[in-house]
Amino acid sequence: MNLQNLIRPNIYNLKPYSCARDEFKGKASAYLDANENPLNAPYNRYPDPLQNDLKEKVARLKNIDPEKLFFGNGSDEPIDLVVRIFCEPGVDNIVAIDPTYGMYQVCADINNVEYRKVHLLEDFSLDVDSVLNAVDDRTKIIFMCSPNNPTGNDLNVNDMKKVIQSFNGIVVIDEAYIDFSSRKSFLTELDQYPNLIVLQTFSKAWGMAAIRLGMAFACPEIIGFFNKVKYPYNINLLTQYFVGEEIKKLKRKEDWVEMLVSQREKLIDQLEKLPMVQKVYPTDANFVLVKVNDANATYRYLVEQGIIVRNRNNVSLCLGCLRITVGIPEESTLLIDTLKKMK
Ligand code: PMP
Repeated sequence: MNLQNLIRPNIYNLKPYSCARDEFKGKASAYLDANENPLNAPYNRYPDPLQNDLKEKVARLKNIDPEKLFFGNGSDEPIDLVVRIFCEPGVDNIVAIDPTYGMYQVCADINNVEYRKVHLLEDFSLDVDSVLNAVDDRTKIIFMCSPNNPTGNDLNVNDMKKVIQSFNGIVVIDEAYIDFSSRKSFLTELDQYPNLIVLQTFSKAWGMAAIRLGMAFACPEIIGFFNKVKYPYNINLLTQYFVGEEIKKLKRKEDWVEMLVSQREKLIDQLEKLPMVQKVYPTDANFVLVKVNDANATYRYLVEQGIIVRNRNNVSLCLGCLRITVGIPEESTLLIDTLKKMK
């Protein structure tokens, strides 16, 4: 892979903004360089633009070199950055599985980058040949999401590897829901595939969607371009500090995942017994895709009862489907009891 051929020339040649915190490292007796208010410590100071302390901690947790780690304002930030770094508006294109997480297309559309959808097969597995056939010499990125949203299933690892090995561009594997899956993360494969970017997030299993911290893992060269293009202080001090404390509670996160996975299995069991349910699709995530007799009516009824699920009726291959997040046992009971009462 020749990174220079893949990156937009203006980004390759970009001279990034150099902030005060980039220029001086170490301890000083007076910080008079950044036009901050000297009072109200520690909130008066700009945060570390590269989040080095937190990166050390998260890199240890993930057993990876901190140079291969980028933090974004949610994993939505690296999704947008990857489009802006690699795709020339009006010229380059992106190939992605369909259906999948909606932000890949939104970011492509915002940047005026053609977005080519390749349907998953009937069982939501990856159609490797169709993905590769959709590629042309202006395709810069292939997006795959596993476990996939909204279908819930993991894509086959060997199928994903075939795509990574056969494509001469950037492959993004979005692992937002990886903690709920029994498959191994692609993080261990990073050294083997310099064209691979893996996305993960603190928004799901770690229970921190509100504080907005997402991760992109890639070779240090690609991470360097993320750092060049991002806003200087994209991760605020409160988030950096808070996540540093929360990740000490690894056992709590693992207990949550265990609880949610067992809840998921119980929920599937109960849903399958409802006459209105035609099919519960296999899932490796913390949600289930359920085909019901009348998705719109069921969605509206649940909203009236104060229960909010996601109506995926209009999404390709998801006709008649609702996407239901796995909650605590009381929420599953409420959902099932409410559905039983629907006329
Ligand atoms: N990827 C997938 C597959 C998602 O479903 C989501 C959020 N629903 C995200 C990324 C973005 O998550 P965040 O920005 O909170 O990290």
